[in-house]
Amino acid sequence: MSDCLFCAIASGDIPATVVYSDDQVVVFRDLNPQAPTHVLAIPRTHYTDAAALATAEPELAGALLAAVGKVARAEGLADGYRVVFNTGSHGGQTVDHVHAHLLGGRQLTWPPG
Ligand code: 5GP
Ligand code: ZN
Repeated sequence: MSDCLFCAIASGDIPATVVYSDDQVVVFRDLNPQAPTHVLAIPRTHYTDAAALATAEPELAGALLAAVGKVARAEGLADGYRVVFNTGSHGGQTVDHVHAHLLGGRQLTWPPG
């Protein structure tokens, strides 16, 4: 999709620190990290949110979550981590290309703000 920041990161037009990529998924470090590990996992294909992705391409949604697990292992997050899909305005979503936040490396609190 034109004018989408994360489509541009997926294509390499905008640089990012990529920690994992394959033909379906790209995982890169968040520009404004909220934990020692804070990466964003995106499908290369543009979908607005996780439900739209899972409805249209359930295998791609599974590949996205599998990539999150691979990166969590590579980052040494054996004590646990959090996976978050901020969705829509009330969910705090600021980039309308579905992305899973993977946060870890410190004790995370609950409930979130
Ligand atoms: P959201 O608020 O939509 O759930 O998350 C968007 C995330 O993208 C934020 O955590 C923000 O720090 C990150 N972000 C915004 N612009 C860029 C960018 O240009 N590069 C990278 N690597 N992360 C970005
Ligand atoms: Zn996009």
